[in-house]
Amino acid sequence: VIEIRDLHKAYGNLEVIKGVSMSAPRGHVISLIGSSGSGKSTLLRCCNLLENSQRGEILFNGESVRWKGHGASRAPADRNQVTRFRTNLSMVFQQFNLWSHMSILQNVMEAPLTVLGEDRAEVEKRARMLLEKVGIGDKADAWPAQLSGGQQQRAAIARALCMQPTALLFDEPTSALDPELQQEVVKVIKDLAQEHRTMIIVTHDMRLAADVSDHVVFLHQGVICEEGAPDQLFGNPQTERLQQFLSATM
Ligand code: ATP
Ligand code: MG
Repeated sequence: VIEIRDLHKAYGNLEVIKGVSMSAPRGHVISLIGSSGSGKSTLLRCCNLLENSQRGEILFNGESVRWKGHGASRAPADRNQVTRFRTNLSMVFQQFNLWSHMSILQNVMEAPLTVLGEDRAEVEKRARMLLEKVGIGDKADAWPAQLSGGQQQRAAIARALCMQPTALLFDEPTSALDPELQQEVVKVIKDLAQEHRTMIIVTHDMRLAADVSDHVVFLHQGVICEEGAPDQLFGNPQTERLQQFLSATM
């Protein structure tokens, strides 16, 4: 579903992504691990065009992003294509990013109504169903501030799902949560993995990565240092870098 080829990204003179190729086939869960500053969030944001990249290809369902300009001035050429990519690759952030002036239900309904222009009754039905699914059906009329962190993150996942995206991108969905609350969110992510949703998950939670992933990518200083099946990567890491990283985090 998502493929990137030889992607390069710099912030000014700071090269952050230095030639990364990676793909998330339909129904697969890819985890992206690596130390702080290795470029995980940047890579994820490049995938759905929240960030510009200077070189390399990004494909969605076999369709390449069309660019105008080169190098530092490269940008997506087609606004409609960008919207299509974004709506099909829903993102869930570490800090939930719910709209504080809207109820939980309104948060979940907002994008399908305004971006996709869908029928309100249909969106509401789907939104309520998704809130049930993530275990907060009773919170539809609450404000974000009235929910625990775990509940807010589950609302954010329902909001991402309500767009009926082709794939979900998670950027450290459990990092802002206390350990007990993390488990609520982990359970929802595991359920989604069971349904064979296509997902890319940036996480510091190695157990989550080991449990849900089909493929794990270890990023180090903007390049893929090692990748493979979770058993192999966690059970038998080949590079010293990954061995060090795992012994520091597990
Ligand atoms: P973490 O685990 O801490 O979230 P990360 O792997 O997600 O780290 P990134 O956020 O992708 O890392 O950052 C990679 C590098 O890019 C870092 O050196 C960071 O300082 C730099 N960087 C990130 N965002 C920007 C920005 N908007 N402007 C300039 N530099 C940035
Ligand atoms: Mg990050």
